Amino acid sequence: MTLLRVPPPLEQDVDLSKTYDAVIVGSGAAGGMAAHVLTSRGLRVLMLEAGKKLPIEQELRSMQWPYDHPRRGDAPPGYHSLSFNEYNIRTPPYAKGSTFKHVMSYVGGWGGSDYVKNILVDEKDHPYTGTKYAWVRARALGGKTNIWGRLALRLSDYDFKAKTHDGYGDDWPISYADLQPYYDKVDLYLGISGVKENLPHLPDSLFQRPNKLTLGEVRMRESLKKMGRVLTPYRAGVTTDGLKHNRYRSKCYGRGACDRRPGGCDIHAAFDSPTGLIYPAMDTGHLTIRTNSIAHEVLVDRNTGKARGIAFIDSATHKSYEAKAKVVILAASTLESARLLLLSRSPQHPNGIGNSSGHVGHNFCEHVMGPGVTGLVKDLVGKPPTLDDGRPGGFYIPRFRNLQDRQPGFVRGYGFEGSGGFSIFPGNAMGTPGFGAQFKKEVRDHAGAFIGMGGFGEVLARYENYVDLDPDAKDAWGIPTLRFHYQFGDNERKMCEDMVVAGREMFEAAGIEVVGTDDKMLTEGWSIHELGTARMGSDPKTSVLNQFQQSHDVKNLFVVDGSSHVSASCQNPTWTIMALAWRSCEYLADGFRKGTL
Ligand SMILES: Cc1cc2nc3c(=O)[nH]c(=O)nc-3n(C[C@H](O)[C@H](O)[C@H](O)COP(=O)(O)OP(=O)(O)OC[C@H]3O[C@@H](n4cnc5c(N)ncnc54)[C@H](O)[C@@H]3O)c2cc1C
Ligand code: SF4
Repeated sequence: MTLLRVPPPLEQDVDLSKTYDAVIVGSGAAGGMAAHVLTSRGLRVLMLEAGKKLPIEQELRSMQWPYDHPRRGDAPPGYHSLSFNEYNIRTPPYAKGSTFKHVMSYVGGWGGSDYVKNILVDEKDHPYTGTKYAWVRARALGGKTNIWGRLALRLSDYDFKAKTHDGYGDDWPISYADLQPYYDKVDLYLGISGVKENLPHLPDSLFQRPNKLTLGEVRMRESLKKMGRVLTPYRAGVTTDGLKHNRYRSKCYGRGACDRRPGGCDIHAAFDSPTGLIYPAMDTGHLTIRTNSIAHEVLVDRNTGKARGIAFIDSATHKSYEAKAKVVILAASTLESARLLLLSRSPQHPNGIGNSSGHVGHNFCEHVMGPGVTGLVKDLVGKPPTLDDGRPGGFYIPRFRNLQDRQPGFVRGYGFEGSGGFSIFPGNAMGTPGFGAQFKKEVRDHAGAFIGMGGFGEVLARYENYVDLDPDAKDAWGIPTLRFHYQFGDNERKMCEDMVVAGREMFEAAGIEVVGTDDKMLTEGWSIHELGTARMGSDPKTSVLNQFQQSHDVKNLFVVDGSSHVSASCQNPTWTIMALAWRSCEYLADGFRKGTL
C-alpha cells in the first residue's frame, strides 16, 4: 500500500531583529499545543527547538522488517544503550569515561536502536549529576512525541482533589470540570481510540474506533468484571477513523509496527507534535520555527522585571543569539523547563526567574514501574495464529486501589498496561529449551498464548525530591547541568509489592497460569513521566504558577509542560499536558488582546 504523504509546510525566515508576540521554547506535546492555540488566535509566534528537524519517516521506517535491516534494527557499532545495572551500580554522569563513541538512554533497548539514535540525546553531550536517575530525553522537532507509547488517559478528581480524598500532599487549583472541555478539544483535534467505561476515576474520552482485544485479554476482562475491576482496550492517542481537518496524518492501518521497538508511526496515525500540531500551526502563516536553538536564559527587562525574550545558542555553530517576544512560554519538558527557570538569574530574580517561592525544581514526581506478571492462557496453546499486534496497544487496567477502600500500606494507586496474543517476535522463544523441528513447534504453539502486564504507580510529590543546578558540571555547550536529589520512598515500595500480589490474583482468578512475576522496581526516571518541578497553586509562597500555568512572579511568563502538575496521579500525563496547555494558552491569548499580561 502506498500512502500519499503531504510534505511539511515551507518554513518562514527567522527574523531576530523583530519582537514576536510570543516565543515558545520546545516543540513537544506542550510546545506544539501552545503553537496551535496561539497561532489559531492570531498571535505571531517564534518556536525555538534545541534539536534538529529530522526527515522523520526515514528515521522511523515503521514498515521495515527486522530481516530487512543489517543489524535487525540495532544501532551501528560505537553506540551503547545504558542498562538497568549501569543506572544502578554507577552514578551520573553515566557516559563519563565510557569507551563508546555515543551513549544513549535505555530506551533503544539492548544494542541501541537504529530508529531512534538521532532522536534521543547522546548522554556524552548532555550529562547530569547527583542521585541515580534514568533520564530519557529526545532532542528533535516534536521531542518525545516522535516515539511515545501513545497511552492517552485523563485525570479525574481522584487526582485533582487527591488531598481532599486522602489527606496527603496538595490539591490542584483546578478540578476535572475545569479541564474536561479542553480534554474534549484535544480528543477531537488529535484523535483518540478507546471504549467508554463510565468510571469516575478514569473519565472517558471522545473516542474513535477502539482496538480489538485478543482472546486472552477478553478472558481477563470478563473475569475482572466479577472482581469489580475493568480491563479496557488501550486508550491510544491514535486516529483510527482519520481526521478530516489534518492533511499530514493518516488513519491507523493497524500494521503492528508500533509494537516493534520505540520507533513511532511513519504515517502519523499515532499523534506526534509536528504533524498533529506544528505543521497545521505553520499553515496559519503565524508560526516561525528555529531548530538547533538551545535556550539557556529567559531574558528580563531590568526596569519592569518582566520577561523580554530568550537567549539561545545555536547547537551546530555554538554562536549566541537573542530572540525578543512580548510573552515567553517554556515547554522544554518538566526537567528542562525547571533548568531554564533556575538558569535565568537576574537582580530582580536572584534565585532564578519565577522562583520567589523557592519551589522551582522541587515537588518532583513521576510514576514508578517494574513489577509485573506474565501468564499462560493454556487452552490457547496450539491454536492457529492470529494478527494480534496490528494495533497500537494492548490493554489498560485502571487504578482500583484507594478509591472506596483504604490500603494499609500506601496511599494513591496504580494501573496496569499489558497485552496478550501473537507479536512480531514470540517472546517465549528465548526461554524455550530444545532445538530443531520440535523446538520450532513448541515456540509456534505457545506464541499466542501468553499475556503480560506491568504496573505504573503514582510517585508522591515531595518537596525533598528535587533538582538544582550543578555548580561545576556543564553540557557540551557550556550550560550548567541539572543535579538530581531524588529517590523513591516507602509508599512507592509498598505499592510495588502490592502490584505483584494483585497482578497474580487477577491472573489466577481468570484461570491464567502465572509463569513469571517480576518484583523489581526499575530505576527512578524509567517511566519517562517526570512531573511537578514548577507546580501550580493558589499560594505564591508554595507554588510557582497559577492555575493558568502563568508565573506568580512574572505575568508574561508561562510554563505549559508537566512541570506544572501538582501530583503525578498514576495515569500517563501527555493528554493532560496538552489539555492544560490548551486552556492556559486561551487565557494567555485573551490576556494578550486585553493587554493584561
Ligand atoms: C518511549 C516513550 C514512551 C512514552 N509513552 C507515553 C505514553 O504511553 N503515554 C504518555 O502519556 N506519555 C508517554 N511518554 C511521555 C511523553 O512523551 C511526554 O509526556 C511528552 O512528550 C511531554 O511533552 P513535552 O512537550 O513536555 O516534552 P518533550 O516531548 O520532551 O518536548 C520537549 C522539547 O523541548 C526541547 N528542549 C529541551 N530543552 C530545550 C532548550 N533548552 N531549548 C530549546 N528546546 C529545548 C526538546 O528538544 C524537545 O523537543 C513516553 C515517552 C517516551 C520517550
Ligand atoms: S498500528 Fe497504527 S498507529 Fe501503530 S504504527 Fe501502525 S498505523 Fe501507526
